[in-house]
Amino acid sequence: MLTIAVSKGRIYEEALPFLENAGISPVDDPKKSRKLILATTREDVQLVIIRATDVPTFVEYGAADMGIAGKDVLLEHGAESLYEPLDLGIATCRLMTAAHKDEPLPKRRIRVATKYVKTAQRYFAEQGIQAEIIKLYGSMELAPLVGLADCIVDLVDTGNTLRANNLEPRELIMNISSRLVVNKAAMKIKHQAICELLQQFEQTLTRRRAAS
Ligand code: AMP
Repeated sequence: MLTIAVSKGRIYEEALPFLENAGISPVDDPKKSRKLILATTREDVQLVIIRATDVPTFVEYGAADMGIAGKDVLLEHGAESLYEPLDLGIATCRLMTAAHKDEPLPKRRIRVATKYVKTAQRYFAEQGIQAEIIKLYGSMELAPLVGLADCIVDLVDTGNTLRANNLEPRELIMNISSRLVVNKAAMKIKHQAICELLQQFEQTLTRRRAAS
C-alpha cells in the first residue's frame, strides 16, 4: 500500500489531474466524506488530505510514503529529511516581503510578521538586515495595518489581497510551486511502485508543458 499525503485546498485541486492520470481518484468525495484516509480507484494507493504544513512531517516520519506540498512549506520545514524528485509546477505563487504602499521601511531594526519564521530569519540575515520576526498563523496582511509589524513575509499570487489592504509587494524571496516529496526509507523499500508513480506524474508534466 502506498499512502500519499496531499495539502488541502488549492494544491489538492491542482494535483488531481496528476493523480487521475496515474489512475488515482478518491472513491469518496473528500469534501463530503468525514473519512481521514481516503481509499482510491487504485487498490494499492490511499490518500490523506491534510494541512499543508503537516505534509512534510507525515512524509518525514513515514506515515505517508509520498506527499504533495508547496515549496514554501518545505523550505520552512527543512526538506533535507525528504527526497524532492519532482516540481509539479502547480499552485504557483511568490514568497515576498510586503509593506505599506509608498512608505520606506524604518532605519531601526524592523519587525516582520510571518508564518515562515525560519525562512524569513534566513532571508533577512542574508540581506544583512536586522529583523525581529513575529510568528503569526494567518492574516499576515493585518499586522502592518495595526502597527504590529513594519512588513510581512507572505505568499503573493494576484496581489489583490495586498492592494485591498493598501500594501505593496517589495522583494521576491522565492518563486513557489508544489513539489512531490518522498520518504527516504519508502524510496528504498517501495522503490518500484514509487518510481512507476513518479514516471506517470512526469508524463503528465511533459504533456502539460507540450500543451502550453
Ligand atoms: P492574492 O491576493 O491572489 O495575491 O493571494 C494572496 C493570499 O492568498 C495570501 O493570503 C496568501 O497567503 C494566499 N496564497 C496565494 N497563493 C497561495 C498558494 N499557492 N498556496 C497557499 N496560499 C496562497
